[in-house]
Amino acid sequence: MSDIDAQLQGFLDRPCGPYNSWDEVNQAMIRHWCEAMGDTNPVYTDPEFAARSVHGGIVAPPTMMQAWTMRGFTGQWATGSDTREPFEVFQFLEKLGYPAVVAVNCEQTYYRYLRPGDRVHHTSRIEAVSQQKTTALGVGFFVTELEEYWDADGGKVGDMRFRLFKYRAHERPKEHAAAESGKPKKIGRFRPVEGHDTKFFWEGARAGQLLIQRCKDCGTLRHPPGPMCPACQSLDWDTVQSSGRGVVYSFVVMHHPPIPPFDYPNIVVLVELEEGTRLVSQLVDAAPGAVSIGMPVEAVFREVEEGLTLPLFRPCPGGA
Ligand SMILES: [Zn+2]
Repeated sequence: MSDIDAQLQGFLDRPCGPYNSWDEVNQAMIRHWCEAMGDTNPVYTDPEFAARSVHGGIVAPPTMMQAWTMRGFTGQWATGSDTREPFEVFQFLEKLGYPAVVAVNCEQTYYRYLRPGDRVHHTSRIEAVSQQKTTALGVGFFVTELEEYWDADGGKVGDMRFRLFKYRAHERPKEHAAAESGKPKKIGRFRPVEGHDTKFFWEGARAGQLLIQRCKDCGTLRHPPGPMCPACQSLDWDTVQSSGRGVVYSFVVMHHPPIPPFDYPNIVVLVELEEGTRLVSQLVDAAPGAVSIGMPVEAVFREVEEGLTLPLFRPCPGGA
């Protein structure tokens, strides 16, 4: 065993916690969670249905376990929690030159259902650290944290094994590593994927044409592009050229947070074309306060970066 391996093993099984829940298990949080996750099982939300079920009353979804004790957005643990970080081993690895982290696996085991009124807390320890591994991402160590969830009587609610890869990324080829040359790396726009269904759209844009996909069987227009007609399920399609004229169907003016490479305020518009389809784009040559729903606009093709021509929109001359 190498010196580093021996030191890493020293981080194992140091118990941290408890990490408490902010609130007791309650119907409001269960309802919100089920709604967000799309879980429609009435045993979580309908008291009458739950009373007739094997549970005899409302229970919380087991997969919601983490939600009870999770840190808030501000990073604060619930009152009375241990404030130590369970991942001291990460700081150790960072000093050794492994700064990056990615979550690779999560396994949960459930022992009992939680019910409204239950109090949950969890404890944490590092269960395993691998030897140094080389993956497609880089060189580093797999770290497995074991979180154990408990009820107020010390009964086990569930386990969660969370595995992360703490690593140093492979060096990238020189042409991509502008940072190494001392120049700040310019952040560009996301490049669109040009596949079987979408290539026509971007080729059209480069040629100054706004093309719309059309079903060859029933003539229905569709956007965004896809392989199948949603009206008749035909796989045969061609395209028509849009006039490029339309109206602002909806919009949002982005102020914060400013994300490169856009200029702010950034006017994002959903345009309804004369032909009837809608597309998301950017409104240019307009003051942020001047945009309104129903405003007539027309397409303008701009090479926003080398090799990337986008259909943008501007207010129609003489429109509105
Ligand atoms: Zn069709």
